[in-house]
Amino acid sequence: MDFSLSEEHIMIRDAARDFAQTELLLGVIERDEKQHFPAELVKKMGDLGFLGIMVDPKYGGSGMDTISYVLIMEELSKIDASASVIVSVNNSLVCYGLEAFGTEAQKEKYLTKLATGEFVGAFCLSEPEAGSDATSQKTSAIDKGDYYLLNGTKNWITNGGRADVYIVIAQTDKHKGSHGINAFIVEKGMEGFHVGPKENKLGIRGSDTHTLQFNDVKVPKENRIGDDGAGFRFAMKTLSGGRIGIAAQALGIAAGAYELALKYSKERKAFGTEICNHQAIAFKLADMYTDIEAARHLVMKAAWDKDQGNNYDVSSAMAKLYASKVAMEHTVEAVQIHGGNGFVKDYHVERLMRDAKITQIYEGTSEIQKIVISRNIIKE
Ligand SMILES: Cc1cc2nc3c(=O)[nH]c(=O)nc-3n(C[C@H](O)[C@H](O)[C@H](O)COP(=O)(O)OP(=O)(O)OC[C@H]3O[C@@H](n4cnc5c(N)ncnc54)[C@H](O)[C@@H]3O)c2cc1C
Repeated sequence: MDFSLSEEHIMIRDAARDFAQTELLLGVIERDEKQHFPAELVKKMGDLGFLGIMVDPKYGGSGMDTISYVLIMEELSKIDASASVIVSVNNSLVCYGLEAFGTEAQKEKYLTKLATGEFVGAFCLSEPEAGSDATSQKTSAIDKGDYYLLNGTKNWITNGGRADVYIVIAQTDKHKGSHGINAFIVEKGMEGFHVGPKENKLGIRGSDTHTLQFNDVKVPKENRIGDDGAGFRFAMKTLSGGRIGIAAQALGIAAGAYELALKYSKERKAFGTEICNHQAIAFKLADMYTDIEAARHLVMKAAWDKDQGNNYDVSSAMAKLYASKVAMEHTVEAVQIHGGNGFVKDYHVERLMRDAKITQIYEGTSEIQKIVISRNIIKE
């Protein structure tokens, strides 16, 4: 067993850290306030290879492993979780899905552009009546010979108003339940495809979340991903990897808040000494450090499982469940350590606290992670 990072991993982590602390930090408060999508930064992240981290270089990707992906996600999320969710969705839900399940023609046409950041992708599973219960898909895709006719509504779609390529999950045969579901590639601007207004959110406000409407959209047959009826398996497998990315995002949010709290506690004085010398504050820091390190081990283990070709359904669920809990609890503590300054935007911790909440909700709520974990341990 080896807990140390390779020289290459350290280089990748440091490059992401440098980018986050110079480029992402600039304007992060304003982007959050105004709900500005960081289009210029997305372009720069594409140039750095962060949008196709694990994609084979023959499709324009960086050809790195999942450990590199979580290292990058942690560093970006310490500063700007709105930017990191764009990276996570593009890598885990869109690029991975296309590379693992797409045809050569689909990879050539879409993956090569998504992996370089020329295109941004979105993943559309959730519906007004199908969130946790993803099998209750109402969006339908009727086989019309050389195309499918797509109708329905998807909500909460990250990158919804900014994407070029949308992977849309739809019911093709409602009598077959989860075996009657398929995944399709829908392009921006296809006739009958409408993007609804942007959501006004509590956190990750710089990310772009929309409801999407599909009214008789003709999706060419060659845009179906995988075998007929394989869409639900595609979605679940893709989300399993996505959870590693979101776990790393939660870890980064927690670690970012901890680093700010530690620094502040060494500078701020009360009762004649730096507040870190008060045991109540020192113990908070000890708890944060310990829990964050434990979360990091779970995140790394899930990433390692994926890289080794092991099943990562449970390790990714555990990593997301735990890291998101740590993120929520310890961003609250980071605000507390900052006192009144924690309550204002300039000190960043209030934003991290708001951003932390989403990591317990998307790509499977914490309750759903517990269902995944418990089902697996009971059946063993
Ligand atoms: C900012 C944001 C971005 C998102 N991005 C995307 C995206 O890009 N693509 C996409 O497809 N979706 C996206 N989502 C949707 C997200 O994945 C869903 O919100 C999430 O899966 C929960 O579904 P729901 O909101 O319908 O809640 P519900 O499923 O209605 O759940 C409500 C509550 O009930 C609990 N619950 C439900 N079923 C059970 C059960 N069996 N046992 C115990 N508790 C249960 C849940 O845990 C939750 O606490 C996003 C959501 C948000 C807020």
